Amino acid sequence: MKLTDAQIPQEVLTVLSTLKNGGFEAYIVGGCVRDLLLGRTPKDWDVTTNANPEQIQGLFENTFYTNDFGTVGVVNDNATDERVKVVEVTPYRLEGKYSDARRPDNVIFSEKIADDLKRRDFTINALAFNPGSGELIDLYEGIKDMSRGEVRAVGDATERFDEDALRILRAVRIAAELGFAIEPATKEAIAKNASQLGKISKERIRDEFTRIVASPEPMKAILLAKDLGLLKYIVPELLDGIGVNQNQAHSYDVFEHNIRALQHAADKNYSLEVRLAALLHDIGKPKSRRRSEEKNDWTFHGHDVVGAKMTKKILENLKFSGETVRSVSNLVRWHMFFSDPDKITLSAVRRIIVNVGKEHIEELIELRICDRIGTGRPKEQPFRLRKYQSMIEQALRDPISVGMLKIDGKGIMELTGEKPGPRLGWMLHALLEEVLDDPTKNTEDYLHTKVKELAALPDADLRKLGEEGKGKKEEAEEEEVKSLRKKYFVE
Ligand code: ATP
Ligand code: MG
Repeated sequence: MKLTDAQIPQEVLTVLSTLKNGGFEAYIVGGCVRDLLLGRTPKDWDVTTNANPEQIQGLFENTFYTNDFGTVGVVNDNATDERVKVVEVTPYRLEGKYSDARRPDNVIFSEKIADDLKRRDFTINALAFNPGSGELIDLYEGIKDMSRGEVRAVGDATERFDEDALRILRAVRIAAELGFAIEPATKEAIAKNASQLGKISKERIRDEFTRIVASPEPMKAILLAKDLGLLKYIVPELLDGIGVNQNQAHSYDVFEHNIRALQHAADKNYSLEVRLAALLHDIGKPKSRRRSEEKNDWTFHGHDVVGAKMTKKILENLKFSGETVRSVSNLVRWHMFFSDPDKITLSAVRRIIVNVGKEHIEELIELRICDRIGTGRPKEQPFRLRKYQSMIEQALRDPISVGMLKIDGKGIMELTGEKPGPRLGWMLHALLEEVLDDPTKNTEDYLHTKVKELAALPDADLRKLGEEGKGKKEEAEEEEVKSLRKKYFVE
């Protein structure tokens, strides 16, 4: 674990040297130092200094205030790397007084880096590095905790959670992202202070929850959040699935099924929307469970409809964007789609596509994969699924039809004076036959010339040509379907 200048972008090094040339101290600090030491790519670069906001602004050409805590954004317009277009420089700060476990009431600047590190949440986030001198400041054994793989509060954990209760959830999120455990005393303090999360704004909770869901180990993190009593402040509805046994196809209760489905979405690196849908897809089950005497089993009729409504409410409550709310609840709404490729018709597949929307059909398949794995069934049944996917593609592609032609019935009437009637259809199909044989003929030029020839033919001849064309079209359709099946290896 040795840090070198080479790991730090030039723009950040320039910000540091400008501050130092101005007579101030300057360090990179927090998550970026942690990530460098872990061999991860930092998300952003934070600089801390003993200069005050005015002094920082005095040293750089293009700056702005980014928040109420004295942070100055230094703008690097020419930077190609998005993460250094703005480098945030924050004066050393002391923890202010907290009246409501939310935010410091007032910001107090300090002369000492030690004060600034003391106010940070976790030991692994309380590291500062000075690239010029190679000095790495680690006042709280953050490096040791890092090698143990532990998230531990700086100082007394309960006090720190009292100051800002979001830290409770940050601990779980950071552990999920890094694959770390939470150190026992910190964990105990989290459990004890869980109810403080109730005071935190939905937006801040959403941001941490999103990162938990997007992490590599969301199942473990959500189980941990449940065990520590945090889940009730995030998605309490999930808890209703605990102990709700399902029908015989399932090995797990509803809660475990949901989080296992989510974990599979993470293992497959699916999008945030699919992950959220996986987590929430059966959220409506506890409310919809009924006993069927006939089947001697549980049924959950309507849980998709109930679940979609609940999903909307849950995500709205957490202040997710309208777009996310719509996509996720839409996936939950349609997750029960019938997909037996041996029994389903193409028109039923088309209806599913229309229901969920063309742009979401891929996600709906992904959700189905997660759902299956989440039941504890070992396989995704790849053959049948691929066959179903080939049917989707078939339903999605433009059909082979006279609509492909660069001329239509109206165009023919204008060009030739033909009246509406069967002759128009024969002509179009005759043209289609030629175009299927040689697609380069599908130009206005060619078709206009050709259609005038056709218009001169008597009915009988034209009908013959038209019918030949129709046969050709059906042949071409079959060919396409064959090649689609081949593409998905289901021939
Ligand atoms: P990432 O950049 O990956 O989101 P991070 O740890 O850098 O993770 P930031 O939100 O960028 O998180 O915060 C930067 C640093 O500020 C943290 O590493 C930590 O030292 C400190 N910090 C952030 N939020 C808090 C908080 N609520 N309480 C105390 N310190 C915090
Ligand atoms: Mg950061």
